[in-house]
Amino acid sequence: MAYDFDVDPRYGKKLAWAREFVRDEIYPLEVLGLDHHSFRRLAKPLQDEVKRNNLWAAHLGPEHGGQGLGQVELALLHEVLGASDLAPHVFGCQAPDSGNAELIAIAGTPEQKRRWLTPLLAGDIDSAFSMTEQGTGSDPKQFTSRAVRDGDGYVINAHKWFVGNGSRSDFHILMAVTDPDAHPYEGMSMFIVPTDTPGIRMRGIATMSDTNLDDPLYVHDEVWYDDVRVPAENLLGAEGQAFVLAQKRLGPGRIHHCMRWVGVCRRAFDMLCERAVSKSVHGGSLADKQMVQQWVAESAARIEAARLLTMKAAWTIDRHGASAARTEIAMIKYHGAAVMHDVLDKAIQLHGSLGYSGDMPLEQMYRWSRAGRLYDGPDEVHKVTVARRILREYEPVEVPTEHIPTRRAAAVARYGESAGTG
Ligand SMILES: Cc1cc2nc3c(=O)[nH]c(=O)nc-3n(C[C@H](O)[C@H](O)[C@H](O)COP(=O)(O)OP(=O)(O)OC[C@H]3O[C@@H](n4cnc5c(N)ncnc54)[C@H](O)[C@@H]3O)c2cc1C
Repeated sequence: MAYDFDVDPRYGKKLAWAREFVRDEIYPLEVLGLDHHSFRRLAKPLQDEVKRNNLWAAHLGPEHGGQGLGQVELALLHEVLGASDLAPHVFGCQAPDSGNAELIAIAGTPEQKRRWLTPLLAGDIDSAFSMTEQGTGSDPKQFTSRAVRDGDGYVINAHKWFVGNGSRSDFHILMAVTDPDAHPYEGMSMFIVPTDTPGIRMRGIATMSDTNLDDPLYVHDEVWYDDVRVPAENLLGAEGQAFVLAQKRLGPGRIHHCMRWVGVCRRAFDMLCERAVSKSVHGGSLADKQMVQQWVAESAARIEAARLLTMKAAWTIDRHGASAARTEIAMIKYHGAAVMHDVLDKAIQLHGSLGYSGDMPLEQMYRWSRAGRLYDGPDEVHKVTVARRILREYEPVEVPTEHIPTRRAAAVARYGESAGTG
């Protein structure tokens, strides 16, 4: 199979613009130690510039104000955006809003699109995706949240965990069981739940990357929904469709995550190499130490492998749809996250205490990147998927004790006893 990751030269120029824009306009924001509100204020004019350059909300079709790009083109954009965790917000493709917008675009009614999607895409409102229940994120079959039909609406009782953006959002897309007798993959539904609906309580969760809960850039909430009532028209998609929709949301979304991780890797790798050629210790450049050379060589190869694997997954989705790329999508999730983690670790190591300090972006990138091995399914779950999909192509074979001598005798009969001796 010949893979082709070429893009139209006009799009190539846009990517070059985005690369410079991230470096010149967004990197400087990182050192300001911004809280959420000041970041939003400073991001606004930058978002307008992205819109003028037609790269806003690039993951959506033009009918929803996006750019209608293929997965390969999108992957290349996300590689650029990955260099700074602030960039996706400036480009209108920040999780969870980007995935939620895709969900409403795929499954929403015209009225849901008018009420929630249009203002979401304009950046006028925010959203959250409320799926995980504590300790069951890797096995949604265990979800216990319930939504019960009651007259012209549903009553929801749920306890959700790690809902990104929960308390800052205007609505949650919530997953709950509507038919406990159906198979778990067919008994769950999605609802649009306005955040100001009576019965919702939230608690901010401090994390490895956001320990200060005052006004951090990112929030993750534990959320309780006690007898929360939503009208029936807030059902997103059909009853029982939540799992299928969640897969549609998470599959291509993983390509975006993984290419952003490649962007993280490249930035950290550049710093690693710059440090190697800039500093001398014990009478020689770090660049000449074989241990450092090994880090450079190994990291370069691993980044390239992660990039090509992700591009292959993107190409496969473009050509044959997301389900044809399931193995690759699962592979890049754990492979990409591991490469990112290792490259950052090496870059910090080579910078010594400077790398560990807040004077470099590496320590923040490292703390943030750790979550990559957990969200959207932990490494282990994706490894199980990959192994199962590979192993189901194999049949058990009989290896009789006479197998090797029999094969040898057959080979000797064909080529002669001396064929293997010179
Ligand atoms: C930064 C961040 C943002 C997030 N944002 C959101 C959000 O916006 N909305 C939302 O709903 N959720 C969100 N989550 C939750 C995320 O989806 C879950 O953390 C993830 O699905 C794992 O679920 P869990 O945390 O409940 O882990 P558990 O299900 O408790 O699993 C814990 C560990 O058990 C092991 N394990 C699990 N299954 C297997 C297996 N089959 N074989 C071997 N070992 C296994 C793994 O080591 C795994 O890490 C977020 C998480 C993070 C870290």
